[in-house]
Amino acid sequence: MDSIVKTTHIKTIVVATQNEKKRREMLEILKDVPGILLKGVEDFPFLPEVEENGNSFLENAIKKASILANVCNTWAVADDSGLEIDILNGRPGVYSSRYAGLNASDEKNIEKVLSELRGVPREVRTARFICSIALASPHNLFFVVEGSCKGLITEKPMGTGGFGYDPIFLVPDYNQTFAELDSSFKNRSSHRGKALNLFKERIIPLVQRF
Ligand code: IMP
Repeated sequence: MDSIVKTTHIKTIVVATQNEKKRREMLEILKDVPGILLKGVEDFPFLPEVEENGNSFLENAIKKASILANVCNTWAVADDSGLEIDILNGRPGVYSSRYAGLNASDEKNIEKVLSELRGVPREVRTARFICSIALASPHNLFFVVEGSCKGLITEKPMGTGGFGYDPIFLVPDYNQTFAELDSSFKNRSSHRGKALNLFKERIIPLVQRF
């Protein structure tokens, strides 16, 4: 009797985030990509803490992915994201998570932004969320993708959904903040959703090649 042995090559990719929400979002978008197995940092003990000290989201994502890929000796994906407000010259930017200080709560970060924007008229409260995602192997950076979405900073927090700056990020077409809008809408139209979809387009041919 003929026996057919089918071998499927599975590529392990470690996801450089402790944030369970981000990891689930990535799993959801990549679930139908054949040939990849996403692992969390908890599967690799003794990992170094990577300092996010780059001048851009891109730099931080590349640094995290490259270090992790090298230490884990496998492919690694890392993202960095945040909010840029035009009238604040792009702040909070790479300091988004710690704008009001190290380990600051979302509420404190929001308070700081709102106090800096006090009296600023609606038409110049323009802002964007940005997300950069990098994929690296132990000795190579494969690619980086970036997604962004535009909005306006409100005068007070509105809505209870989401996280971070969502309650003050207004989507002008809907006149609602990300914290008021449905999470499935946010996942599709957000900076991270867009970047993840680009990531998916780029990784499919790469996985087939290796
Ligand atoms: P990181 O990418 O985990 O370093 O996130 C940086 C910070 O940017 C977060 O702590 C949030 O304050 C902010 N941020 C990034 N993405 C979002 C988002 O989708 N909504 C609200 N805030 C966000």
